[in-house]
Amino acid sequence: MLETVSHHFDAACDRLGTRDDLRAVFSTPYREVTVQIPVRLSDGLIHNFSGHRIQHNGARGPFKGGVRFHPTVDINEIRALASLMTWKTAAVNIPFGGAKGGVDCTVADLQPNEIEQISRSYIARIAKLLGPTRDIPAPDMRTNAQVMTWMMDEYSRLHGYTPAIVTGKPISLGGSQGREAATGRGLSYVFREAAPSLGITPSEATFAVQGFGNVGSWAARIMQQLGCRMVAVADTSGAIHSDAGIDAEKLTEFTAAGGKVSEFEGADRLEPDEFFGVGCDVMIPAALGGSIHHQNAGRLRCRMVIEGANSPTTFAADAILVERGIAVIPDVIANAGGVVVSYFEWVQNLQYFEWEEREVNSKLGTIMRRTYREVSARAETEHVSLREAAYLIGVDRVIEASEMRGYVS
Ligand code: NAD
Repeated sequence: MLETVSHHFDAACDRLGTRDDLRAVFSTPYREVTVQIPVRLSDGLIHNFSGHRIQHNGARGPFKGGVRFHPTVDINEIRALASLMTWKTAAVNIPFGGAKGGVDCTVADLQPNEIEQISRSYIARIAKLLGPTRDIPAPDMRTNAQVMTWMMDEYSRLHGYTPAIVTGKPISLGGSQGREAATGRGLSYVFREAAPSLGITPSEATFAVQGFGNVGSWAARIMQQLGCRMVAVADTSGAIHSDAGIDAEKLTEFTAAGGKVSEFEGADRLEPDEFFGVGCDVMIPAALGGSIHHQNAGRLRCRMVIEGANSPTTFAADAILVERGIAVIPDVIANAGGVVVSYFEWVQNLQYFEWEEREVNSKLGTIMRRTYREVSARAETEHVSLREAAYLIGVDRVIEASEMRGYVS
């Protein structure tokens, strides 16, 4: 993933004529911290987890990015995701920089009190780097509103009640209305804005979703409200297909009750590697990074890919999709709805004020539509893909802010 993000960054720098000495600065993070998190688990032994926080660039505002709890947490991937956040917050023009964090634990093997200890120790050890005007963590893979609450509480023990220290909190403790659906909703706003240019009518469009978690299931439900028909879905259990359509609401109820996508009634089973070959208007990868690669990019039978996941298309696959005339709406804009509503949560916390969900969604729509229009206009003027245009805009803004603030001169 680091190579993919670096490739896109380098391509933007080539086009912008960015000096080599300057691009070397943005190719590495501003700060990387690794801490030990020793916790005594229920087996009686002390397990020494590793926690990372990587702050890539803060020229445009406080560092912002999620924290994942996953056994495969890898520092190179965290570096890539931190830089992706820098370009994403800049591309959508919200006043944040980019960061990412992670702890190498397996949540499924841990008791709630053990997850709490890990969350608190992690924050206590990196607290000096954090602050509502310095660095604001958020949820990511296997972290949720409860984990954010423990993190907020730990920080507040040291500094007094500080809800603006993390986003993705429960509504009762300063979370924002609309945050849970925000990434999927943001994706649907971008889809509606992009559809006419490809001759797609949303109320007649078909789509497929890889990953039916937060992003995939909300994107599917909101696309369905627009009249679109979901013809295929995949999760870790397998994939299903139905030309007549799979009901996104019913599938959400089914998976929320513990069901697996592959066991949902009324659809045909697909082999996992057949999923990307399903014919549809819109393919939404919303699971892992790197799922569209050089071996399957040639098989896609869609007109548009909207990247719900971070970095789901490898650099090689991206070139194949461009060559095949498949429009790709890149992660840096397509899945930015989550961080945009995190920004709204932070603003509400700083003001000790709450907005109605309608207001949140309306403000989100304004930012997502404006971003898509800016990116597509730049793509047209410079004869580049939407991804290249989004990076051009993001990299340009970050370099300008860094130069003006005197970080690089
Ligand atoms: P999630 O854990 O809620 O859901 C992930 C889904 O992907 C699950 O349904 C899982 O079964 C499925 N999945 C995992 N591996 C798979 C595989 N090999 N094949 C098919 N399905 C697979 O996660 P999420 O929050 O929905 O995030 C999904 C992606 O979107 C991640 O890349 C994340 O970084 C990115 N993202 C999330 C947000 C957000 O607000 N949640 C914001 C921006 C980007």
